[in-house]
Amino acid sequence: MMSAAFLCCASSNAMAALEVFACEPEWASLASEIGGDKVKTFSATHARQDPHFIKARPSLISKVRRADLIVCSGADLEIGWLPLLLERAGADVQRGAVGNVMAYQYVPLLEIPTVIDRSLGDIHPDGNPHIHLDPRNLLLVGKELLNRLVLIDEGNSDFYKLRFAQFETKLNTAIARWLEEGKQLKGMQVMTKHKSLSYLIKFFGLEEVASLEPRPGLPPTSSHLAKILESVGSKNVRAIIRAPYESDRGIDWITSKTKIKNVIIPYTVDGDDNSGDLFALFDRSLAILKSAL
Ligand SMILES: [Zn+2]
Repeated sequence: MMSAAFLCCASSNAMAALEVFACEPEWASLASEIGGDKVKTFSATHARQDPHFIKARPSLISKVRRADLIVCSGADLEIGWLPLLLERAGADVQRGAVGNVMAYQYVPLLEIPTVIDRSLGDIHPDGNPHIHLDPRNLLLVGKELLNRLVLIDEGNSDFYKLRFAQFETKLNTAIARWLEEGKQLKGMQVMTKHKSLSYLIKFFGLEEVASLEPRPGLPPTSSHLAKILESVGSKNVRAIIRAPYESDRGIDWITSKTKIKNVIIPYTVDGDDNSGDLFALFDRSLAILKSAL
C-alpha cells in the first residue's frame, strides 16, 4: 500500500512541473530560484538580444501557448513582440490573469516622463522598464511570483514559500555586502548608451552625467554627441557603460577623443562568462565597475 501510494504521488509531482515563460533571462532565473524543480523555465531572449526588439517567432508562440505563467518586465519593454505572442496564448496568461506577471507593477519605477512624445522615439513612456538591476526589486517581484505560484500550484505552496524565504535571506545578505563593497563607487561619474543601467547606477550611487541617446530609443545624433564631448572637460567621467546587446555606435567616437573607457556590464544572467546566475550578475557588475574607477 505504502509503496503504491508513493509511486502514485511521486510520478504525478514529476509531471506537474509548471511551465514558466520569461521574457528576459533575469525573470527565468528568479522563477527558478523560487520554483526550483517544480518549474520549467524558458527565456524568450538572451543577454545578447535587445529585449525591446525581438521577433515574435513561431517557436516563441508555441512556448507561450504551453505556459502556465509568464513573467516579463512590462512597462512597454516588450511592446513590439509580447502582444503578438499573447494574441495566440491561452486565457490563463493574459493581462490581469493569475498567470501573467508584469514585474514593473511591483517596484518603484525610475524616470517616469512628465511629457511623452512617441514621435520623438521615446520607448520608455511608462518609466524605465530595466528594473532588475536594482537587486531590491528582485525581492519585490519575487514576492509576487511566490504569490502566483502558490495560487497556480497550491499543492506545492510550502515548497515555494521555503524556497522564497531562503532566496530572500541569501539576497538580503548579498545586498548588504554589495553595498559595503561598492561604497567606493559612490559618486563615480559614468555615461550610458541607453537608459538600460539606471537601476544599477542608482543602487551603487553612481552619477550618470549623460546618455548618448538624446531620448530613450533615439540613436545618438552628432550634435548631441558634440554637446556631450564639450561637457566632458569639466567632469571626471570614468566610463561609458552599456549592455552587451547595445552597439558601440557613438561610444567609439567619444572614447577616441577622451580617456573615458568603453565598459560592458553583463546586464542580465549570462551577459558574460562570469554572470551565470542573479548573484553572480551583481558580483560581476560590481567588480567591473570597481576596475573602471
Ligand atoms: Zn530601454
